[in-house]
Amino acid sequence: MERIRERQAVVADALVAASSRGLPASALQLGPVPASPVPASKVPPSTVSSDLIEQLRVLEEMKSAISGLQARVAVAFDLAQRAEQAEAGVPASERGQGVGAQIALARLESPNRGSRLLGLAKALVTEMPRTLAALQSGQLNEWRATLLVRETACLSVEDRCAVDEELAADTGTFAGKGDKAIIAAAKAAACRRDPRSVARRASRAAAERTVSLRPAPDTMTYLTALLPVAQGVAAYAALTRAADSARASGDTGPGGDTGSRGDVRGRGQVMADTLVERITGTPGGFSGINLDLVMTDRTLFQGDSEPARLKGYGIVPAEWGRELLGLGQAVSPAPAVSPGPAVQDQELTVWLRRLYTAPASGELLTMDSKARLFPTRLRRFIEIRDDTCRTPYCDAPIRHIDHVLPWRSGGTTTVENGAGLCEACNHTKESPGWNNKTVNRDGQGNHTLEVSTPTGHTYQSKAPPLPGHRPSRT
Ligand SMILES: [Zn+2]
Repeated sequence: MERIRERQAVVADALVAASSRGLPASALQLGPVPASPVPASKVPPSTVSSDLIEQLRVLEEMKSAISGLQARVAVAFDLAQRAEQAEAGVPASERGQGVGAQIALARLESPNRGSRLLGLAKALVTEMPRTLAALQSGQLNEWRATLLVRETACLSVEDRCAVDEELAADTGTFAGKGDKAIIAAAKAAACRRDPRSVARRASRAAAERTVSLRPAPDTMTYLTALLPVAQGVAAYAALTRAADSARASGDTGPGGDTGSRGDVRGRGQVMADTLVERITGTPGGFSGINLDLVMTDRTLFQGDSEPARLKGYGIVPAEWGRELLGLGQAVSPAPAVSPGPAVQDQELTVWLRRLYTAPASGELLTMDSKARLFPTRLRRFIEIRDDTCRTPYCDAPIRHIDHVLPWRSGGTTTVENGAGLCEACNHTKESPGWNNKTVNRDGQGNHTLEVSTPTGHTYQSKAPPLPGHRPSRT
């Protein structure tokens, strides 16, 4: 036990020392070291096992304490950045830009999550001191502190402080309580303080309606819609009705899960088919919509097993790619062009844009432009190479093709000088102190981008490996 306490003290000291450069001392207080829960007189059955459990517990408490410390450091960083921006003449309304993005890079998180972590830190440090104290002393972990912040987000500063005081998380209120109990306690306290705000918040939730796509196993995918309850119920009822009437009329549909014709479709299958038909406006599928499938010529023509990449989904098996193209067997190779001519498969009426990787370098075949704006083909090309936003840890879809070295600074409209960015990252890159450049240090042809932040830190982002090429280690 003593050994573990010593180790904890050493790590805590090192942590404080490492973080203390230029930061206020008040930002760096770790919570108190908890007393030993094992009575000294009682000899545990196995000292080794008991020690290991004790270590796990101590480490867990340290994680929470570190999270609390990170919250304080994030708030201090936000203040420092705002002060520097004010000095540089940035108007008050624009100060604080890029702070969340820098926190994200330092914490290996997406920019979106970086901004939320900063919001959490500010709420804890300025409005919920008792929740912060509970985090620092290991009584709440970062997620549970986030729940308390989230459930009180609609309240005024005064009401939120009052709820924090009422819940008194640092006195052990939530010992042994799970996520649901914590949410319920915070919600009840918030409702008591300001029932109208809580109701207004529920009505605002409708603004967050959205549709998202994420991969499911076995080349399936989840298409999810977050909808206000009435619309969701109505959409589901419409699909149910379609399924009922199809089955009542003895539906034999375009095939069940085996894809063979003539099978009676299940209720769920009819609903899924109807959903696709109504959204795409095409009976039986999705003709006229491009699917970007990146695969090697060996996969396409020679039955190679190297998997392909489908934009918006991810890795798909080679056989699946060939079947979608209607190329079950090897056919004579066409010249490697990119993006190539579209192939229409008679039976599936699926249009695919053929895109090959150059066999020698593994890079998608390139093309340049003298224009300032990226022409459509070059855009598509970079979108397929990058797959998602190129900021490290950001998985958001690409919305802009950015000149890595800006056009006004002599940057060219080339594959090399282009990078796909999401809306938020494109905005951040335009803020003062942010610079990107293309570096290809691995010599493997994978496009590598270096992001420099206002503090002078640099982060690298490599385009995902193309089919047929293993990711290189750097
Ligand atoms: Zn992004």
